[in-house]
Amino acid sequence: MSGPRPDPVTSDATLPSLVDVVVIGGGIVGTSAAFELADRGLRVALFEKGHVAGEQSSRNWGWVRLTHRDPREMALMVDSVRLWKGLNARIGGETGYRQCGVTFAAATDAALAEERDWQDRLQDWQIPAQLLTRDETLARFPGLSLDIRGALYNPHDGRAEPQMAAPAIARGVQARGGTIHQD
Ligand SMILES: Cc1cc2nc3c(=O)[nH]c(=O)nc-3n(C[C@H](O)[C@H](O)[C@H](O)COP(=O)(O)OP(=O)(O)OC[C@H]3O[C@@H](n4cnc5c(N)ncnc54)[C@H](O)[C@@H]3O)c2cc1C
Repeated sequence: MSGPRPDPVTSDATLPSLVDVVVIGGGIVGTSAAFELADRGLRVALFEKGHVAGEQSSRNWGWVRLTHRDPREMALMVDSVRLWKGLNARIGGETGYRQCGVTFAAATDAALAEERDWQDRLQDWQIPAQLLTRDETLARFPGLSLDIRGALYNPHDGRAEPQMAAPAIARGVQARGGTIHQD
């Protein structure tokens, strides 16, 4: 089964004679690290054994969310969302990121209690997640028929487009003077 087709990135034709940092791997981690370094004025070359976003970074679900993740990572996630919100402007490209909000439906009272815990956790970070009744939830999704007790809506959650994000960031590296080398 063939995988998704990430947006293409044009390789740089020549190797730089000197760089400050070599980044190995052109997934979301490598391209993001390379961009942040190039943005700070370092000379960066990124090497990818296949092609940018050719592996897991184009195959995920694209969520950029805080809810239902490890609460110990909350500070990191809050800062990550801040970066995602400004990223298209910084790279001059399109990652597909939209802070569209995510609704988490709860099928049982126990699941709804869990959503209530998450609402409290998010409020500790001034994130105004809303607990919705069953009717409030279904009213937001006309035509949807689900046997649910309620839901949690977090307006701070969103998603990016996995086949676009790392390639767009790689092009941002090139725009900052870095180079991308693929097989
Ligand atoms: C089913 C599923 C759903 C997911 N959903 C989400 C989600 O919704 N939101 C989210 O944030 N995360 C999600 N993730 C996790 C996310 O996809 C990964 O954490 C992320 O893509 C890892 O990025 P990476 O750059 O470390 O790895 P990769 O994307 O795998 O990139 C590593 C790159 O390094 C290259 N490479 C390896 N070795 C070498 C070498 N020796 N020389 C040169 N290049 C090399 C590879 O070719 C590859 O391109 C999901 C994961 C799975 C499995």
